[in-house]
Amino acid sequence: MRIPIYMDNHATTPVDARVLEAMLPYLTDKFGNAASRNHSFGWEAEAAVDEARGQIARLVNASPKEIIFTSGATESDNLAIKGVAEFYKDKGKHIITCVTEHRAVLDSCKVLERRGYEVTYLPVDRYGFVDPEQLREAITDSTVLISIMAANNEIGTIHPIKEIGRVAKERGVLFHCDATQGVGKVPVDVEEMGIDLLSMSAHKLYGPKGVGALYVRLKRPRVRLSPIIDGGGHENGMRSGTLNVPGVVGLGKACQIAGEELGQEAVRLTQLRERLKEGIMNRLSEVYVNGHPTQRLPGNMNISFAYVEGESLLMGLKEIALSSGSACTSASLEPSHVLRAIGVKEDLAHTSLRFGLGRFNTEEEVDYTVRRVAEEVSRLRKLSPLYAMAKAGSQKGQERELKAQSESA
Ligand SMILES: *Cc1c(COP(=O)(O)O)cnc(C)c1O
Repeated sequence: MRIPIYMDNHATTPVDARVLEAMLPYLTDKFGNAASRNHSFGWEAEAAVDEARGQIARLVNASPKEIIFTSGATESDNLAIKGVAEFYKDKGKHIITCVTEHRAVLDSCKVLERRGYEVTYLPVDRYGFVDPEQLREAITDSTVLISIMAANNEIGTIHPIKEIGRVAKERGVLFHCDATQGVGKVPVDVEEMGIDLLSMSAHKLYGPKGVGALYVRLKRPRVRLSPIIDGGGHENGMRSGTLNVPGVVGLGKACQIAGEELGQEAVRLTQLRERLKEGIMNRLSEVYVNGHPTQRLPGNMNISFAYVEGESLLMGLKEIALSSGSACTSASLEPSHVLRAIGVKEDLAHTSLRFGLGRFNTEEEVDYTVRRVAEEVSRLRKLSPLYAMAKAGSQKGQERELKAQSESA
């Protein structure tokens, strides 16, 4: 087993060796610009891009023409939300999203609010689910877009996407899904789920960083977008800029592998996740799982360890790469907006760790992590006056109860 252990696969994933191998020729000999129409270098690059479009489309049951390449899911989210909002502004200026979305979605919506749009942020229940009925009630005649993620990047909750898609269709509202954590991990089918726009990112599914895609439905209905980047008119005019050919090839290969291995990988990761959870729960008291017990990403576990500061815990576990809250928010000391939204109390929200298991994690690494987490939590609790007080309190309570029992007996 190699130290340090990487267990932060929601932040990013390592590049699969097969993906790197597919990319390498496009960083060396096959360096052509996919937009060069006049020579074989360009044709070669274009053919590679076309193949990648096909591989990506197959994974989500789309058509290759519906795949627009971007620099990652942040850009895909921005393009979907701002692009639809701008194009359909005469139809209406209301957007519906949810409080636990990724910053890329929330911040795009915030910008639109400043530009005169109205945004409804749906609440979630204690597991992090949006309620399709509540969504239905929030739709008005001026709603032009619903943006709900497939799976949450902090607590792993998988939303009822098919039901959300059905509600959107019923009311003729476009449905954007940030499926960055879902694609390649759980089945995603844009037809079956009624998705009109879908964001994904290569580096969350064992591809390279800085490349992603936006699926944009072409038929029933044809979705229109105003571009947010102007230039040479690449990608049907929706996203100008010379394509990152090696990156695009990597995203395509990553999607092909995911399509072939998703089923067995999900089973393996679910087993590892349960092993991790049970190992920790068996060794420690006062630990709480955040999110749904089963309706979550196979590789996701999010746990609050009462009486232990998440940051201090991470400091003590330097040889294991984990995250407290989301990687995007751990720069600030605010508790995670997702944990807050599912009703985790402020003190417990500060004690949470996110475990992100991925393709290259092993049982041995999970067992080591369980042992080290248990050691560190116990060590920190011994130093915590709050924990000592709580334990003394509960001991007193138990003594009182025993006394009451023996007196009544
Ligand atoms: C990582 C992530 C993003 C951002 O993707 P980048 O490609 O890093 O810009 C957006 N949404 C979700 C749900 C993510 O997990």
